[in-house]
Amino acid sequence: MGGELHSVRKTPEETEVYWGFCFPDLYEIGMSYLGLQIIYHVLNRQEGVFCQRLFAPGADMEELMRAEGIPLFTIEDKQPAAEMDILGFTLQYELSFSNIVNMLDLAGIPFYSKDRTEEHPVIAGGGNCSFNPEPLADIFDFFMPGDGEEILVEVTDIVRKSKKEKWDRQKLLQELSLLDGVYVPSLYEAQYDESGRMTGHRKLYDQAADRIVKRFVMDMDGSPFPLHPLVPFTDTVHDRTVVELFRGCTRGCRFCQAGMICRPVRERSPGQVRQYAAESLANTGYDEMSLLSLSTSDYSQIEPLVRDLMSDCREVRAGLSLPSLRLDSFSEDVLRDIQEFRKTGLTFAPEAGTQRLRDIINKSITDEHIYTAAEKVIRMGYTNIKLYFMIGLPGETDEDLEGIVEIARNIVSLSRQYSENKGRFNVTVSVSNFVPKADTPFQWAAQDTPDEFDRKHFFLKDRLKKLKHVSFQYHGTDTSHLEAVFARGDRRLCASLIRAWELGCRFDGWTEFFDYGKWLQAFEETGIDPDFYSKRVRSEEEYLPWEIIDCGVSKSYMLKEMHRAMEGIQTDDCRRGCTGCGVRRFVECPVYEMGTNYTQVGL
Ligand code: SF4
Repeated sequence: MGGELHSVRKTPEETEVYWGFCFPDLYEIGMSYLGLQIIYHVLNRQEGVFCQRLFAPGADMEELMRAEGIPLFTIEDKQPAAEMDILGFTLQYELSFSNIVNMLDLAGIPFYSKDRTEEHPVIAGGGNCSFNPEPLADIFDFFMPGDGEEILVEVTDIVRKSKKEKWDRQKLLQELSLLDGVYVPSLYEAQYDESGRMTGHRKLYDQAADRIVKRFVMDMDGSPFPLHPLVPFTDTVHDRTVVELFRGCTRGCRFCQAGMICRPVRERSPGQVRQYAAESLANTGYDEMSLLSLSTSDYSQIEPLVRDLMSDCREVRAGLSLPSLRLDSFSEDVLRDIQEFRKTGLTFAPEAGTQRLRDIINKSITDEHIYTAAEKVIRMGYTNIKLYFMIGLPGETDEDLEGIVEIARNIVSLSRQYSENKGRFNVTVSVSNFVPKADTPFQWAAQDTPDEFDRKHFFLKDRLKKLKHVSFQYHGTDTSHLEAVFARGDRRLCASLIRAWELGCRFDGWTEFFDYGKWLQAFEETGIDPDFYSKRVRSEEEYLPWEIIDCGVSKSYMLKEMHRAMEGIQTDDCRRGCTGCGVRRFVECPVYEMGTNYTQVGL
C-alpha cells in the first residue's frame, strides 16, 4: 500500500488544508470504490489542498499498532490522522460503523463531537448512509448527502478561511451549516414523545436550514473525473479501470434506496465515455474496463456505445465488463459483444419468485422475461446463471418462496432442452434478506425477525437441494437485523455503537468477526430495544428521523408508492411518462425534459 501509480504527494509548503479521506474497511475494498478515486481527484487538483487516504487496519495490523503505540496514519505521508484538518468518512453501509469508531480511537480522537476542540480535525460523512445520518449524529460534525464534487470544494474553502482567521469550532460548524447540502447535527436537538418515537428536530441555531436538500451535480460531462486513477500494487476486489456511465435510475423498485436517492438520471455522453475509457486504460495499463451505473442497460445509447467500446478495447487487447444488466432490457446484441471476452456466467435479479410479489415491489419483469433471457443465455453457450432474490419483502407468502424454487427448476429444464454442454449448466440462487431502508416506499415497513428469516432459508434450502445443478447461497440473518436497526435508527444509537465497539465489535460485515451477542449486550446496556427500529411498522403520521434530509424524492411520492404496493399496483418506469417523484422541486430532470424523445431502450 502507498506509493501507487498516480498517488499524490504534496509538501507542507504546498498545503493549506489537509484532508483525510477515510474508508472504514480494508484497503482492497476501498480501492475498488470509484467514489474514492473521484474524491481524491477532486480534492487534490485544488491548489493548497492535500487529500490523503486512510483505511481500517486489519485485525493483525490493529494489534501491532496498539502494541507499538502507532496512531492511525495516512497511506501517502504516513501522517497521523489527528493532524488532518478534515477527516471525511465515506458511509457506504451500516455494518462499517463500528470501524469508524475504531479508526477514531486508533487516531486518538474523541468519539463525540461535543468533546472535540480546535485541536482536532472536523469529522465529516458522505455517501448513501448520510441520507439517514442520525445513528452517527453525536459522533460526526457534519454530513454532505448527495453528489460530492462541488460541496467538497466549498467545504474546503470554509475550512481554509477558518484556519486563516482562527475561528473557534462552533463558528466553523455554523459557517459550514450555511452551505447548501451540509447538515450539522449538533445544531439541532432531537425530540421524542413518551413512547420513544421521534417527533422532530428542533433548531438550536436560527440560521440552520429547516431541511437539508442533497446536492445534485447535473452536468456529468462537465464534472471532474479521474483519468489518472490510483493503480494499487495488490489485488483489489474490482481490479480494473472504471468509467461512470450515468447516475440515477428511473425504474422505481420500491425497496431500493439507491434508485430513490440518486435521482434524477444524468448521463455522460457516449463520446466522453469512449474517450475516458481509452485514456484511463492507457494511463493505468489495466487490461479490463468496466462501466458503472445502477442499471447499465438502461443507458439511452447502450448498444452503439458497447459496440464502439468493444472495438476500442479490442484494439488495445482489453476486455469490457458490464456489471448490471436487467432481464427485460436484455439485449442479445450487447451480450454477444461481451461474450467475445467472457463466457462463464451471467447474473440477473428477478428479486421475487412470483409476478404478484414483483408487482408489489415494482420490479417490472415477467416470467416470460426471465425464461426468454435464460433460454438466450443457455443457447449462447454460457455455463452458469446466477439469480438474485430478496426474501422477507412486504406482502411475501410461502407461495413466493415456492416461486423461487419453480424458477430454478424451470431454468434447469430449459438447460436440458437447449444447452450444448448438457449437464454442465448451473443455476445459482442467491438470496438476501430484505432490509427496509430510509428514503424508499418501504421505509414504513417491518423487517422479518431473525427466526422468520431462518425458517425461510430452511424452506428454500430444503427444496432447492433436491434439484440437480442448483446451488443456494444466502446471507446471515443477524447481520441483516443489525443493518435494519441502523438503517432507520436515530441518534440514541450512538451510545450503543460506541458500547459495541468497547465490547470488541469490528468489521461487522465480515462473518469471521461479526458477533451479534456483543451487539445485543451493547443494546441492552444502553437501553435500546433493537426491534423498535427493525420490527415496528411506522405509522404514516410519524416523524421519521431522516426527514431532516431531503433526498429529492418527496415523502408524499413515497407514501403514494407504498399505497400502490399494498394494492399490488405497478408504477411505470418514468421514461414512459413522469410519475412526479418530486426531484423537479429542485432541479430540471433530464428524463422529464426529454419526454418521449428519451431513447427508450428495452421499454
Ligand atoms: S421528475 Fe419525473 S421523469 Fe424525472 S425522475 Fe422523477 S418521476 Fe422520473
